[in-house]
Amino acid sequence: MKTETASASTYPVFVERVEQGQVQQVAIKPDRIEYTLKPQFGRQRFYTPLRGSTHELTQLLQRHQVPFIQVPDTLSPAGILGLVLSSGVLVGALALALKFSPSGGGVGAGTAVGMGKSKARAYGRSKTGITFADVAGVDEAKQELQEVVDFLANGEKYRKIGAKIPKGILLIGPPGTGKTLLAKAIAGEAGVPFLSMAGSEFVELYVGVGASRVRDLFNRAKRQAPCIVFIDELDAVGKTRGSNPIGGNDEREQTLNQLLTEMDGFDGSSGVIVLAATNRPETLDPALRRPGRFDRQVLVDRPDKSGRLEILQVHASGVSLGEDVDLAAIAAQTPGFVGADLANLVNEAALMAARHDRQAVLMADFKEAIERVIAGLEKRSRVLTPLERQTVAYHEVGHALVGALMPGNHTVTKISIVPRGLGALGYTLQTPEADRFLLLEDELRGQLATLLGGRAAEEIVFGKVSSGASDDIQKATDLADRAVTQYGMSASLGPVAFAKPSAQFLEGGSDRRATSPEVAAEIDRQVKQTLDKAHAMALTLLRLNRDLLESATQTLLTQEVLEGDQLQRILAQVKAPAGLNDWLAKG
Ligand code: ADP
Ligand code: MG
Ligand code: ZN
Repeated sequence: MKTETASASTYPVFVERVEQGQVQQVAIKPDRIEYTLKPQFGRQRFYTPLRGSTHELTQLLQRHQVPFIQVPDTLSPAGILGLVLSSGVLVGALALALKFSPSGGGVGAGTAVGMGKSKARAYGRSKTGITFADVAGVDEAKQELQEVVDFLANGEKYRKIGAKIPKGILLIGPPGTGKTLLAKAIAGEAGVPFLSMAGSEFVELYVGVGASRVRDLFNRAKRQAPCIVFIDELDAVGKTRGSNPIGGNDEREQTLNQLLTEMDGFDGSSGVIVLAATNRPETLDPALRRPGRFDRQVLVDRPDKSGRLEILQVHASGVSLGEDVDLAAIAAQTPGFVGADLANLVNEAALMAARHDRQAVLMADFKEAIERVIAGLEKRSRVLTPLERQTVAYHEVGHALVGALMPGNHTVTKISIVPRGLGALGYTLQTPEADRFLLLEDELRGQLATLLGGRAAEEIVFGKVSSGASDDIQKATDLADRAVTQYGMSASLGPVAFAKPSAQFLEGGSDRRATSPEVAAEIDRQVKQTLDKAHAMALTLLRLNRDLLESATQTLLTQEVLEGDQLQRILAQVKAPAGLNDWLAKG
């Protein structure tokens, strides 16, 4: 949209203009609507207060095929699905999202009645509108769940053979991979009632409320069988009992006990299937996984390259794409992105195109969007002192020069000192050439040196370091710690696991095993030694390439960005110090 100021208009006028096809696009903000007229009607911008429900408004806009964006109260930089813009499928997705939120009007058949009653929302067939076709890139999970749908649809067939259908199915996987979406798809496909509730909704301030909500939910399920009960974010109720340091049989434990009792209280032939989802399977009480409860687990993992392509196709299908857009190339550049990130990426790209008043989304929009999603929103307006800018530039070039010689299929593809959100003053983009699942020892050392390269450059140039390296140091320390305590990569300690990952799917964090003080001290020594050696190697490498560090930084300072052939020509000149390969191989 243009930036000239908007004039006031009334809601009825707005509705009339929509109905007469005069409106080009609409932004729905928490407190008002902003809209632009089509070029032939003067392109003027107006705002008007929001009347009635957002749901009615979106229906009106859909009916008249007016593209709209929904601007939430708080804009988080990498906001997952923060904004939605489009005219086709994405609008559909938004309307659905509204239906699903309790405040969005729409379907909510089961309203909250009394405190003890379950707040479960019931969705009948087709009410969610989401089908398996909307969930991409997680084929194995889909296949397993298809079976559940089949059972509910053809229960008789299974009962005749005497096949036992699992009572409880647990969807596990990192945040944003589509677990909730899968559950909604089942609701859409199965053709049976779908009772959905989030784990956090069970847990309330008052003791006993959670337990009675569980009881109520299952009573309703049994009355409506065959049906599906879906408990999202099960970890909110399902944490290991006795993990509360204050002790006692707290509210959450009572709720969990009630859930276990209910799950034992009906048999597989009753036609009730309990589906649950969690990002943190390792925190669940083991009792939940016993036979007869959540005895089947379905992994909803991060998508691989072809999975990412499929997801991009789903989300891009409602967006008009320019001819140069190569979704496969985008999929290749986004390893580690989950479905939610990719949905967000498509939105960002569409917004970018709209901002430039383009009719279609171009590859350049996607490129920019990838960086946005990775690094947060661009903030060209932030003012750095010249010294700060220099420090950032040397720092980033330091990362890049060290990274250029390290093994592991990472190519440094871009260095930027354009400040971005969330405190990143500059960044160096390393694009992996393929998805990696295993980290080899030499690659791990290479990553440590690359992480410490920024700080090393500052030391060499300024003789002192800034606070800008704190995140790098944090990451490097975590990595070195894992190498020693989990991967068994330290020679003196050997292949002993001193820690187990505390969150399988969330970054960072580990629970140390109890060790003798001597071993604990040795761990600390090993972690420090690993880091010191990587740091020393980064320093040696950069001292050897001092001239290149200087010239590349000067170019970066004038251009703000280094990428493409120009960057590759610079990186090709990096000389390897003696002993590099030896250190990479042996530490
Ligand atoms: P989870 O419950 O695993 O944290 P969600 O199901 O809430 O993730 O996913 C959030 C959004 O991200 C979805 O509404 C959808 O738009 C998008 N998304 C996530 N995974 C996928 C996928 N596999 N296919 C298509 N879209 C996806
Ligand atoms: Mg979810
Ligand atoms: Zn850094």
